[in-house]
Amino acid sequence: MYDPKSLKADEFISDEEIRETLAYADAHRDDIELVDKIIEKAKLRKGLSHREASVLLACENEDKIKEMYDLAEQIKKDFYGNRIVIFAPLYLSNYCVNSCVYCPYHCKNKHIARKKLTQEEIKKEVIALQDMGHKRLAIESGEDPVNNPIEYILDSIKTIYSIKHKNGAIRRVNVNIAATTVENYRKLKEAGIGTYILFQETYHKKSYEQLHPAGPKHDYCYHTEAMDRAMEGGIDDVGLGVLFGLEMYRYEFAGLLMHAEHLEAVHGVGPHTISVPRLKRADDIDPDEFDNGISDETFAKICALIRIAVPYTGMIVSTRESQSVREKIIRLGVSQVSGGSRTSVGGYAQDERPHDTEQFDVSDQRTLDDVVKWLMEMGYIPSFCTACYREGRTGDRFMSLCKSGQIQNCCHPNALMTLKEYLMDYASEETKKVGEALIIKELENIPKEKVKQICIDNLKAIETGSRDFRF
Ligand code: SAM
Repeated sequence: MYDPKSLKADEFISDEEIRETLAYADAHRDDIELVDKIIEKAKLRKGLSHREASVLLACENEDKIKEMYDLAEQIKKDFYGNRIVIFAPLYLSNYCVNSCVYCPYHCKNKHIARKKLTQEEIKKEVIALQDMGHKRLAIESGEDPVNNPIEYILDSIKTIYSIKHKNGAIRRVNVNIAATTVENYRKLKEAGIGTYILFQETYHKKSYEQLHPAGPKHDYCYHTEAMDRAMEGGIDDVGLGVLFGLEMYRYEFAGLLMHAEHLEAVHGVGPHTISVPRLKRADDIDPDEFDNGISDETFAKICALIRIAVPYTGMIVSTRESQSVREKIIRLGVSQVSGGSRTSVGGYAQDERPHDTEQFDVSDQRTLDDVVKWLMEMGYIPSFCTACYREGRTGDRFMSLCKSGQIQNCCHPNALMTLKEYLMDYASEETKKVGEALIIKELENIPKEKVKQICIDNLKAIETGSRDFRF
């Protein structure tokens, strides 16, 4: 029944295959010879199958876990260097007709304030985000065909891209909205979105149906097959994720990798990103009422294994996680983080962090400037780069850039130039000082002399007012 090439959710995410995988992983968790073989294969940087990665996840041998972490760290360095891409979520509307039992936007929640931003309010949010220094957003919305139809989302994207305030600009809008039709995906593509992100929540069909008891999201197959429709609609970059805490993490991990294998098998390109959200406290949601919460240690292990199982896929961690957890998993493979986030509708334009429409509690509440400085002090380059999709490097073209090893001549200078823009326009004095020193040091890591010289010239031009250079 299991068929990664099938377009039917029940066949490419086969429950039977996941159960057999977990049984196989249990049977081999102490088989050090096999674990070593899998780690050796992972060192080739071509990824692992869901079965192989599941054996590593089941293995509890501390020495072997250390080897996995070291390898994840090395792969992260080889593929992503020390760049960390920065983004912020923008909540458009919390009207929702679904009944997700873990989300405070569920339609039965009568005490959460409902709010949908007007285009005028979106402008204010975007100006506030631009004034922080953001260039890349992920828009978020509840599912509600009357209040938040696709036309509303499309208008909002247009508004967001149109705002040029001071030196600010939002150059990439990623979209996290409910599963929809091929036609609507086509419209999103035409609107110029970056990645289409949709979290699976859980790959366990029965649990999925219980966790989404009513509303359009109840349909497991329609939801699980969404990425195929998105790709049929012309969207090259799709982002997967599960909400850890809802179901057994080992089941989700195998399902997630099977989904990635399916996209690769059918469309010739795997997911652009994988997000790793964990369930959080929210308005009428108590995470302790769910049985499958995972420890920080298990969470770190999952992140490390995602890194080595799908080396070409970016990994995103949000402000759901605390500073200390983020520190640990950034090292193990995360390539994108949010900063200065507010998860309420209209939250950025207000001075104080509002809670009345918030989707979940934010653990990392630092400002973007603090996050940028913190990353740099750990030796990372915060990158506001959005060049790839604007240069048409999406889907398999992005993957071939990764595979050709040219990233260091492309993403690295782009990261430095966009960081320079941030430092010039938005950074505090202290952050600027740290950043300028970092840029000088990191220029030396551009391999091609010619590229390095262009980058130096562009950095000078940024100082005198020019913006938006890219390779
Ligand atoms: N409404 C869209 C959908 O249904 O896919 C997407 C937008 S929703 C605002 C984004 C994501 O937030 C959901 O996919 C879910 O995984 C996550 N989420 C919901 N409730 C959460 C909670 N209590 N803690 C952490 N994440 C949560």
